[in-house]
Amino acid sequence: MIKFELDGVSLEFANAFRRVVLSEVPVMAIDEVIFLENDSPLFDEMIAHRLGLIPLTTDLKTYNLPHECTCGGVGCTLCQVELTCSVKADLDGHIVRSGDLQSTDPAVKPVNDDIIIAKLQKNSSMVFEAFARLGEGRDHAKWQPGQIGFGYTPDVKIDSTKCAKCPDQCIAARRCPEELIEFSGNKAKLIKDYWHTCSLCEECLRNCPQEAIAVGSKPNSYIFTIESSGAITIKEIITRAMVVFQEKIDEFLGHLENKELFPL
Ligand SMILES: [Zn+2]
Repeated sequence: MIKFELDGVSLEFANAFRRVVLSEVPVMAIDEVIFLENDSPLFDEMIAHRLGLIPLTTDLKTYNLPHECTCGGVGCTLCQVELTCSVKADLDGHIVRSGDLQSTDPAVKPVNDDIIIAKLQKNSSMVFEAFARLGEGRDHAKWQPGQIGFGYTPDVKIDSTKCAKCPDQCIAARRCPEELIEFSGNKAKLIKDYWHTCSLCEECLRNCPQEAIAVGSKPNSYIFTIESSGAITIKEIITRAMVVFQEKIDEFLGHLENKELFPL
């Protein structure tokens, strides 16, 4: 997970960046499954759904989105990867896990080998072929590269000269749910990098009898949190989102140049 401050941008830009990350940064996910045997108590559709949600390591340099591939989306080695699974249970309660998937490309495999797919009884089998393809989160959440969220950058100020009237204790410091205020030497002050966890709950503001605390947010500044599913790195998520963003702006400008503009 990464947390950073994005400064000097509008709220609209920050939200557009968030939406591009969620909906247009492609990753690999299983999109088609052919079951040859399924003796588990789960329907084929349920297993296929579970398989789709298993994050797969993704090589964005090698693979194309199916609709952009030279094969026209039919399926070739440049736009899909085959994963197979063949398990026969020796004992009751045998668990089929993501680690049982065998990929034809070592660069595209489950991020974690311990994701549970199904449980089998003794002598039961599960055999299937699955095809993973690049896709985008706007079509299905299984193609989202991770999670992203943002909030206002906290700007909390404490006038410690007013702390003299509370010499023994600081109620505001005690009530802060994140413990972001230190009280020592009869003075309250914010801990270093308090903005990492400050949620702007204003609990300190409400509990300072001297009204020494001002809670606000920095204009045009936002705290982003990005967590990758493990399919691609956080750096790849950010750089790819910026490339997509730039392409959108170029496309928009291209359309503008082709139109006659009328004054309002
Ligand atoms: Zn192809």
